[in-house]
Amino acid sequence: MITSSHYALKQKIEFPISITTLSPLHIGQSDWIGNDESIAEVMKFQKDQENIPYIPGSTIKGVFRTHLERILRNSKLYYACDPISHSCSGDLKLKTSKADSGLCLACFMFGNTQFKGEISFTDFLPDSNVNLLQKTSTAITRDNGVAKRGALRTVECISPRTKFYGKIIINSDNLLYKGYLAAVIQDLNRQFITIGAFGSKGFGEIKIDAKKYLKWSPGEINPEVVEIDSLRKTLRKFIDEMEESN
Ligand SMILES: [Zn+2]
Repeated sequence: MITSSHYALKQKIEFPISITTLSPLHIGQSDWIGNDESIAEVMKFQKDQENIPYIPGSTIKGVFRTHLERILRNSKLYYACDPISHSCSGDLKLKTSKADSGLCLACFMFGNTQFKGEISFTDFLPDSNVNLLQKTSTAITRDNGVAKRGALRTVECISPRTKFYGKIIINSDNLLYKGYLAAVIQDLNRQFITIGAFGSKGFGEIKIDAKKYLKWSPGEINPEVVEIDSLRKTLRKFIDEMEESN
């Protein structure tokens, strides 16, 4: 028999996120391979089946993970592995130091090669009438990142001041997951972030924005709406108490 407490365990959390482009944005199609034969005349922007340009959720997930790792490396309580040189492996339990077995909080939240992670990101779709610009750029091959001498290519870009919408979904109502996500969102709200190609040429500056999160159970129509700021304060209080008792 399923009781109300079973439903409580299955509560989900959603963070509706908006992304605004501040400079031209180019995110290449993932099937593009940087060898000479396949270099097309136009570097196309990533598009879905209906030919609508979008920002893949994995791109934004990468931004969030990198920032969470930065926060966790300054934390006395939790640990973040370096996913490039030494990713976590082993048991599904939270490890708090390099010596422990299990997964760090970043791998728990965002996953690694062996574990899917508790948080997922939808793709980010633009508001209506999205404007694609054509810009000319020196060709860059993906394998070595070196500009091909003399070759100019046309790059499809999203114009500045375009808004994209998507959301982050957490599978369980866990204070650590939602609290740290709120902390990352608030930090990212306050800074300029670069995604996509040609960042060194001033492309890809974005602003991430989210102010509320939604809390709901499957079958529920009206989610509870909570301010992200209050969530971050709750997490800070929890962490302060944990640090004092350690
Ligand atoms: Zn890890």
